[in-house]
Amino acid sequence: MKVLVAVKRVIDYNVKVRVKADNSDVDLTNVKMAMNPFCEIAVEEAVRLKEKGIATEIVVVSIGPKVAQEQIRTALALGADRGILIETEEKVEPLTVAKLLKGVVEKEQPQIVLMGKQTIDSDNNQTGQMLGALTGMAQGTFASEVAVDGDKIKVTREIDGGLRTVELKLPAIVTTDLRLNEPRYASLPNIMKAKRKPLDVTTPADLGVAISSSQTTVKVTPPAERSAGIKVGSVSELVEKLKNEAKVL
Ligand code: AMP
Repeated sequence: MKVLVAVKRVIDYNVKVRVKADNSDVDLTNVKMAMNPFCEIAVEEAVRLKEKGIATEIVVVSIGPKVAQEQIRTALALGADRGILIETEEKVEPLTVAKLLKGVVEKEQPQIVLMGKQTIDSDNNQTGQMLGALTGMAQGTFASEVAVDGDKIKVTREIDGGLRTVELKLPAIVTTDLRLNEPRYASLPNIMKAKRKPLDVTTPADLGVAISSSQTTVKVTPPAERSAGIKVGSVSELVEKLKNEAKVL
C-alpha cells in the first residue's frame, strides 16, 4: 500500500520568533528552518507502517520554495522512498495546498495520506480537512494511535476530555497529534543514502492550480513582554500584595 506524507518547511521550533520592524510579518532572515514537528510525526508513522509490512512505498510531498528540498531529503533519510516538491516562492494558503495535494493524490493514488494536524508557523489546522472535502476521502484528525486492518484504518483521536476511536474505509487521510509517536533521528548513513533517492520537482501550474489568496496579513505582533518579578520579604507581604495589588484574593 502506498502512503503519501505531506511535509511543510517551517521556522524551527527552537527558534525565538522575531517580528519585522514594520509588523508586516515574522522575520525569517538567517533563521533556522526545519520540518514542521507534526509532519515529522507523520513521516515516522509512515515509516513504522512500512516496518510492519503494511506500507510498501512512502512518497513525501512538500509545497514551497526550492530550499524545501532539504525537508524532503530529511524525510527520505528517515525512511521515505521518494519525494515530490511542488515548487513555488509564493505564500500558499491551506485551500491552495489542499488543491495541490488533491492533484498529487489523483496522480499517486495513495491508500493513506498522512499529514500534521497543524503547522507551527501559521497554526491553521485546516489543510487535512480541506483535502478531505476536496477528495471525498475519509478523514481521521488528531490521531494518537492508528491501526490498519485490511481495507480499513482505526484512528484514535484526541478530543477534549478523552479519546474517540473511529474506523475509516481506505483510502483515508490521517492528521497526526503529538502523542502518536516519537520521531527517530536520521542516521548519517541514511542521510547519505537519501541524497540518491528520487526527488521530482513540479510546479502548481503543472497540476493546473493557480495560486490565489483570500487573506492578507494586516499585522503581526510579538506577545506582550512580561514584567520582571519581585521578591517579597514575608508571607504577610505576599498576602497583602495578592489582595491589594494583584487583587486575586
Ligand atoms: P495547516 O492546515 O497549515 O495547519 O497544516 C496542516 C498540515 O498540512 C501540515 O502539517 C502538513 O502536513 C500539510 N501542509 C500544510 N502546508 C503544507 C505545505 N506547504 N507543503 C506540504 N504540506 C503542507
